[in-house]
Amino acid sequence: MVDGIVSTIGQRCRRCYSCIRECPVNAICVEEGQAVVIEDRCISCGHCVKVCSQHAKRTLNDADLVVNEFLAKQKTFAIVAPAFAASFPDTYLKLPNALRELGFQSVSETAFGADLVSNIYREHYENNNHKTIISSPCPAIYNFIEKYFVELVPNLAPIVSPMIAMGRYLKANHENIKVVFIGPCIAKKSEYRDEGVEGAIDAALTFSELKEILAQANIEIDELEESQFDPPYASLGKSYPLVGGLLKTTDIDSDVLNKDVIIVDGRDKVKEILKDISEGKIKSKFIDILFCEGCISGPGIDSDLNYYSRREKVIEYIDKNLHNIYKNVWKSELFNNRNLDLSREYVPQSKIRPMPSEEQISEILARTNKFTKKDELNCGACGYKTCRDYAIAIGKGLAEEDMCLPHLIDKLENAYGELKSTQEQLHNAEKLASIGQLAAGVAHELNNPLGTIMLYSSMLKKEIERGADTSNKTEDLELVLDEAKRCKNIVSNLLNFARQGKIKIISVSISDILKDILRTVNYTKLADEEIEFKDETDSQIIECDKDQIKQVFINVINNARESMEETPSKKLDVHVFREGENILVKISDTGCGISEENSKKLFTPFFTTKKIGKGTGLGLAIAYGIIKMHKGDIRVNSLVGEGTTVSIRLPLRLVSQNAGNGFQNEIVN
Ligand code: ADP
Ligand code: MG
Repeated sequence: MVDGIVSTIGQRCRRCYSCIRECPVNAICVEEGQAVVIEDRCISCGHCVKVCSQHAKRTLNDADLVVNEFLAKQKTFAIVAPAFAASFPDTYLKLPNALRELGFQSVSETAFGADLVSNIYREHYENNNHKTIISSPCPAIYNFIEKYFVELVPNLAPIVSPMIAMGRYLKANHENIKVVFIGPCIAKKSEYRDEGVEGAIDAALTFSELKEILAQANIEIDELEESQFDPPYASLGKSYPLVGGLLKTTDIDSDVLNKDVIIVDGRDKVKEILKDISEGKIKSKFIDILFCEGCISGPGIDSDLNYYSRREKVIEYIDKNLHNIYKNVWKSELFNNRNLDLSREYVPQSKIRPMPSEEQISEILARTNKFTKKDELNCGACGYKTCRDYAIAIGKGLAEEDMCLPHLIDKLENAYGELKSTQEQLHNAEKLASIGQLAAGVAHELNNPLGTIMLYSSMLKKEIERGADTSNKTEDLELVLDEAKRCKNIVSNLLNFARQGKIKIISVSISDILKDILRTVNYTKLADEEIEFKDETDSQIIECDKDQIKQVFINVINNARESMEETPSKKLDVHVFREGENILVKISDTGCGISEENSKKLFTPFFTTKKIGKGTGLGLAIAYGIIKMHKGDIRVNSLVGEGTTVSIRLPLRLVSQNAGNGFQNEIVN
């Protein structure tokens, strides 16, 4: 057979494995996340095309060749498979005219090919008593046998399919023609390319492909006249697409009690019967066998009808047309072509891969955490019926370990667990680092004033010991006191930071606090017109620790002022408004802004970009602690070179514990 009829459209595959589940010959494997068709293992049955919801399976399409080469340039005949009534249920009698509109010079039924081969089948049946004959109109069947049941190749009836018979008939009776087969079958695309039957057919389209071609040519089949097919007229060959149709045409007795004949249809039953014949369990003379449940269930049928309605349509067409033909004309056509060569051969081409040993299978199962039978869930998520089948497929190089869903979930869970513990370790390390940073900061901040205190006090001590005059040392003592105060300040700030200070709640208007701060013009060092204050709360009273909240605003406004020291345009904007049960204060400046890197450290104690002695790096850290004690939020938005906005949310009521769910703090503390 010819390989590469079905392939995968990579980008569309979503790894659902339904094609793997559906493939009867394990010809699909997962490679780099995509279910790829292994060309030489494929039997072109087209089941994967049918089940892929993502339309990720593509079949070799002859549409271009037919339209642009044959119809445009050459005398082209169409032969239509007898399942057409199921694909065009309301318009099947108009189909011949639709094809003529497309440019086909003759449109006849493949069913006459079935009539041609039926006589030969009967002869084989009657004359052959030494082995079970397997019928061969279905290419998926003989592809399957050639590749996976090579021992049954001699059992295949050495007779061409109706399609090839019809092609050979037309080519014998007409010169220089192209013959295009149209039907429900994808495997026909591989059959006509087969070396053994080459030249009979020039292209094969499915009914769905034909519908696309008609649509592209703007041919509305509904609007056309009904008409007959062109000769040769077919008789009972029209019943081939139905299960048992071949036997009906050949007039072989297919009674249920006839043990010489078995009718088989559908993938699973096909596998069973071939296994039984191969093991010598079946002694019947003839097996009429189709890979699909009749050709009316073929992957290219393109019909919305269910199985029985499709069957009914084909029978309806046979009923209407069987008696329209002149029996004598039909018979003489068969007689005149009695010498037509309708034989063919099949070539064994085994694709069976060596079976892995029991040891290898156990090893593979263990790799996916299956150590005992109990561990084998047989869930089928990998596309294989059992875990053992899956392990065998891995051993044969047809599957990957990551296709086992429970194993994959275990792996993900482990990875997640590891990630979580690494995250915790990192968090702890960060915590330690920030404690270290704090300690270093405190040491540095306290060391300077303590150094001064020690220096001056030891100098004073020496002088007192010497009995020197110390009456002019008041200034030195003041310096010692100042430095000691600085130390006290740092310690009390630290206490605030550690949130160990208590809050003293009173009812107060936030806008009054802000107005107080802003009124101290000297403090902001800004001109009146450089300050804009807007209160939309009508001096709303809230519950808070007035001194601490004042401290927060002083810190934030201080930062804003300092950020604008070097910038030409200075504008401090303070906006107070209400949002639900909260007060929101936005303090914006047109200062230097904060880089992305620094914005992550704003609330870290002792983080400062200011000169030594100017910034302590505790302002925002303390503000954060105070705001959190008030069950509020503080966040900072900033653009370098443009300015900064600090937004503070405070709940109106604190005693009643009515903390709102305002915005989330964006800054990583
Ligand atoms: P300090 O003011 O002592 O440096 P803060 O905790 O108040 O400490 O502020 C930390 C740092 O955050 C400042 O050094 C500055 O880099 C930055 N910062 C805070 N507010 C602003 C602002 N409005 N504009 C620009 N930078 C700011
Ligand atoms: Mg500050």
